[in-house]
Amino acid sequence: MTAAHDPGYAGDSNVGRVRSENEDAFLIAPPLFAVADGLGGHQAGEIASSLAIDTLLEAAPRAADLKALGRAVRQANAAVIDAAATGRGRSGMGTTLTAVMVDGTRLVVAHVGDSRAYLLHLGTLEQLTDDHSLVADLVRQGRITAEESRVHPNRSVITRALGSDPDMMADTFEAQAAPGDRLLLATDGLTSMVQDTEIAHVLATSPTPDAAVDELIDRAVAAGGQDNVTVVVVDIERRGGRTSKGSGSARSVWARLLWLLAALAVVGGAAWAARSYAASKAYLIDEGGYVAVYQGVPGTFAGLTLHERSDLTTIPVSALDPITAARLGQSIQVDGLDEAAALVETYRLRAAETSSAPAP
Ligand code: MN
Repeated sequence: MTAAHDPGYAGDSNVGRVRSENEDAFLIAPPLFAVADGLGGHQAGEIASSLAIDTLLEAAPRAADLKALGRAVRQANAAVIDAAATGRGRSGMGTTLTAVMVDGTRLVVAHVGDSRAYLLHLGTLEQLTDDHSLVADLVRQGRITAEESRVHPNRSVITRALGSDPDMMADTFEAQAAPGDRLLLATDGLTSMVQDTEIAHVLATSPTPDAAVDELIDRAVAAGGQDNVTVVVVDIERRGGRTSKGSGSARSVWARLLWLLAALAVVGGAAWAARSYAASKAYLIDEGGYVAVYQGVPGTFAGLTLHERSDLTTIPVSALDPITAARLGQSIQVDGLDEAAALVETYRLRAAETSSAPAP
């Protein structure tokens, strides 16, 4: 059974064991997911990757659309070039960007650089993106093997990035997933440290995206952690196309807010900001067939768990109408514990009406 609190996606980033700064960035704003690996050093790479992610979030379409996603990546490229030219960051800074929009089982991909999108498709790991790197060119030319490319001294030289060429073209394409597939976005800090066979094993055996993210990062760090490592994992259509529906501004504002919380927590080290915000929220959820009340927000963001159970009621979810029951399967979010308590009272009355047994 799927854990009630698993939102079907997760992401995290780790500085690794060698670098002093984390120049990677990632975005979780369903249906949009992305990773970026900044280049330039002295904080410039961090500026480039976070600016690319910010611009992507601003410019991306609400629904999966290949041309519109490509335009958003071009805007991100222009924003990085502009920032370098106007003294924010420095000239020569750049970033990779690998972005995927998920519409049910349809994937819309835009990609520049050597970060990667993979799909664990019907149990087999497929690399969706082609690296824009020197060693990938050498592999394509048959001059070195894929295995040699992982340890090649020039493995980090990329041939395309955001931030240098105003006419830069992103690879854009669509891919078809199957229900139950698992999407992975990762920077080279994962793929240069952990072999594809091991990545496939972790993706196939982790119970949730959150567990897969933690395990992949742990393995990259344990293998040496030579680079910043960033991983986003998304489960495809486990619950009837959840990631593709529920559009509208409220949802995207919510997604944006969560992303900002994650950014605050990661970039500023200000986990307290995320926690104090979460403390003002509450949600109801189906827990083992009964209505449970949590303070906070569901899921994890940037590795932070932002909820705590406040009450497990004796109200059976099965005594409620099917729509409410289905919504409880994914969580019903409200403003604070008082509002949650009021909702619980209405459920208690409704459950008593549908049941001949007296309410507990
Ligand atoms: Mn990297």
